[in-house]
Amino acid sequence: MHLVPTQEEVVALLRQTGALRDGHFEYPNGLHSNEYLQVPLAMRYYQHARVLSVGLSRLLRANSEIRAMIPELSIVAPGTGGLPVAYGMCEALRAHQVYWAERERDDSPMRFRQYMEVTPGEKVLLVDDILRSGRNLCEMKSLVESRGGILVGLAVIVYQPTPRTVSFDPLPLYYLAKMDAHYYTDAASCDLCAKKVPLEKAWI
Ligand SMILES: [Zn+2]
Repeated sequence: MHLVPTQEEVVALLRQTGALRDGHFEYPNGLHSNEYLQVPLAMRYYQHARVLSVGLSRLLRANSEIRAMIPELSIVAPGTGGLPVAYGMCEALRAHQVYWAERERDDSPMRFRQYMEVTPGEKVLLVDDILRSGRNLCEMKSLVESRGGILVGLAVIVYQPTPRTVSFDPLPLYYLAKMDAHYYTDAASCDLCAKKVPLEKAWI
């Protein structure tokens, strides 16, 4: 394994840990796909989690502007999926603090716990396991900025853009692997349905 794992190494690790699976899946939004990807399945093994988060932190260190602000940097995750990444990066970078937001219900807005507050002018790096639609990261960005925080970049293990993925330009985006998503909008347009491949429901 390289100090910063290569795309191939990351994909192999995701497959080996069951985080990346081939098959025929239906997502709650109705999309069909030949792939299932849940990075937390890889993050349950501490050594693998460490390899990924340390690798990602090395990409950040290479940016001299971000390197200079590490002692005062907050690493903030938009939910629990990003937590192992956030803690791993905070340890590797020796950053100032880690915190996260949550939703009470799936349709509730994101919020911080009581007394977990953004200080005006605070430098914030947003971290998550994956950037797909960008919905959570986008809401997190608005929440941090509404409290006076200053975003300095985003870091994710996997970047899986779709035509609808939110753009965070001009913020720098760091990722270890960029993976294509193969989605069919519904059963009627799905090649796997046409071939009668057994369908599995993906929860999230
Ligand atoms: Zn299908």
